[in-house]
Amino acid sequence: MVTMAVKRVEIQAAQRLRTLLREYFLDLDAASRDPGRRVAWCSSAGPCELLTALGFEVYFPENHGAMLGSKKVSAKYIPRAVGAGYSPEACSYMNSDIGAALCGYSPLQEAYGVAGPPRPDLLVYSTNQCREVQEWWNFFGRRHGAVVLGVRPPLHLGEVAAEHLRFVRGQLAELIERIEARFGLKMDEDRLREVVDLSSRASTLWRQVLDTARAHPSPLTFFDGLIHMAPVILRRGSQTAVDYYEALLAEMQARVADGVGAVPHERHRLYWDGMPVWPRVRDLSEKFFDLHAVIAASTYCNSWAFDPYDGGDPLLWMARTETEVFINRDEEVKEHFLMEMFQRFDIHGAIFHNARTCPNNTNSRFGMAQRLRQRLDTPILVIDGDLSDARFFSTAQTLTNIEAFIEQLEERLR
Ligand code: SF4
Repeated sequence: MVTMAVKRVEIQAAQRLRTLLREYFLDLDAASRDPGRRVAWCSSAGPCELLTALGFEVYFPENHGAMLGSKKVSAKYIPRAVGAGYSPEACSYMNSDIGAALCGYSPLQEAYGVAGPPRPDLLVYSTNQCREVQEWWNFFGRRHGAVVLGVRPPLHLGEVAAEHLRFVRGQLAELIERIEARFGLKMDEDRLREVVDLSSRASTLWRQVLDTARAHPSPLTFFDGLIHMAPVILRRGSQTAVDYYEALLAEMQARVADGVGAVPHERHRLYWDGMPVWPRVRDLSEKFFDLHAVIAASTYCNSWAFDPYDGGDPLLWMARTETEVFINRDEEVKEHFLMEMFQRFDIHGAIFHNARTCPNNTNSRFGMAQRLRQRLDTPILVIDGDLSDARFFSTAQTLTNIEAFIEQLEERLR
């Protein structure tokens, strides 16, 4: 008997995404060589809107860390950072990025023909996600003789109160003053409102794209989200990102209307919590595809789905997004968020990724998986791995565990 392999239905917007990313990286490269333009590096959930409004081109090093992971070269460069005194247990994005810089390598060379990340004039972090970004930025600040500034919201909050937001808003206002003084700039308030509005619109559209996965079958998976989330981070605050997500949303809505699923004969609907395993995205994606299991929702892709901007104080909106971001909340808030997500997306089982070098974005370390299992009677598989360092991830063992987990879900359907 001849069996026909079931083909994945490609997302049409992917071609447009490739063009968008090419233009973005080429423009960043041009900006870093143009004495009339300035480049700022920013953490992924940092205050990029104010940097754009002040005229900086914004680059996000964590994306570069993810590219190193996807290219499966992190393990090659991490030892170089370790040799420079960085712990092998520290963030593998940071270590691989530092190691690659010390070795003069960047995946941007092959992808776009540029020498590497753009030289920074300024580096801005927010510790709302972790302290690692601060030390990572400090490394490159020293290397390039560039100024490093940061925002430090209160950490791991349950309720976010008005005084928390006032405090963070004050930090953002002070950050603007320091940048203005250092670079001889003046913030244009109307421009800041415009950028925040664009940022919020892209974020809202991104949330709507992710929400289309509530449909049965789901038109996209977590693995599609990992690719298509790039503009909501890299081009946040631009019309380009808004246009992109309008097109992607229309495509996903058409898929829902036509009953097109991301995986064939969708049978199991899963949730992914924690970081992706970048070097093994393809292996994992293919395994779930073959098992007719769609990862319909994830904490990671939703991390850039912020609440809409109401046209009021743009710094207050930024303070809210800085502070309320999932990674910065306490266990109770996170648990409630996950329970809501399981319900919204009709989740049958969840996978928690215990990422060795990112305890900050790992939620299986303080009993949450057990509590959710008990409260919801939802099967949960915890896998050990890492976001970027493949040495901490056993592909064979994990795929076997996933097969057994899907078998367990299958049993529950019988
Ligand atoms: S959140 Fe995790 S992966 Fe991201 S920079 Fe911090 S330690 Fe690294």
